[in-house]
Amino acid sequence: MRLFDTHCHLDFAPFAANIEQQLQSAQQVGVERVLLPATGPENWSRLASLSEQFPALYYALGFHPYFLTQQSLNDVVLLDVQMTERVSRCVAIGECGLDAMVDVPMAQQEAIFIAQIELAKQHRLPLILHGRKTHNRLIQLLKQARFEYGGILHGFSGSYQQAMQFIDLGFYLGIGGVITYPRANKTRQAVAQLPLSALVLETDAPDMPLMGYQGEPNHPKRLPLVLQHLAQLQNKDRQTVADNVWRNSNLALNICE
Ligand SMILES: [Zn+2]
Repeated sequence: MRLFDTHCHLDFAPFAANIEQQLQSAQQVGVERVLLPATGPENWSRLASLSEQFPALYYALGFHPYFLTQQSLNDVVLLDVQMTERVSRCVAIGECGLDAMVDVPMAQQEAIFIAQIELAKQHRLPLILHGRKTHNRLIQLLKQARFEYGGILHGFSGSYQQAMQFIDLGFYLGIGGVITYPRANKTRQAVAQLPLSALVLETDAPDMPLMGYQGEPNHPKRLPLVLQHLAQLQNKDRQTVADNVWRNSNLALNICE
């Protein structure tokens, strides 16, 4: 079984000291590929060098709304340079988007998100989207920009209707630990009904711990558990779901199987 963790912060503190071991323990359970999303210019070169070191790693570069600074809008030009010179393992722009729960003015978040949509258009690259209580606005801005290179809405939680709007825009939905919690009723019901052809798996490690593992950092080796829950919700066998989400992940990021 080949699995792709489409959103994992393997460069973050709990893993940083021994990435090789961490990656091995994920590979042992079938996680063959991992996408590392950027937070901002501070980790761009780290992600590039990690992907050079480990063939399982792909990455995205961009500005995460959490980590924006006064400087960020000026730094978009640096992202343009990075994308112009990018290597094949750099497959998307992100993570980027809007977060209504973070203490960064929404006008600033929108300006830098719109700039990243434009860069993705220019370089014909997919986006790794981050959204918290901002799904409708994300959809509006993507439509206004006539963005058509798709990507992944990471950490999907929400209704079937919201999900279908992203799918109609060419996005895949990143399904993670949320679906392991029975109380996440709305999201679980949505995921049960959504077309499997639009779903990919993610852990968002070290964030988003799965049920049963609260209080410890999440880990890419837990991806098979997300798969298991997805298979249950979709009422399909695990191998079928695994084959589909593997293909979807590579399609979303334009990676050859
Ligand atoms: Zn993330």
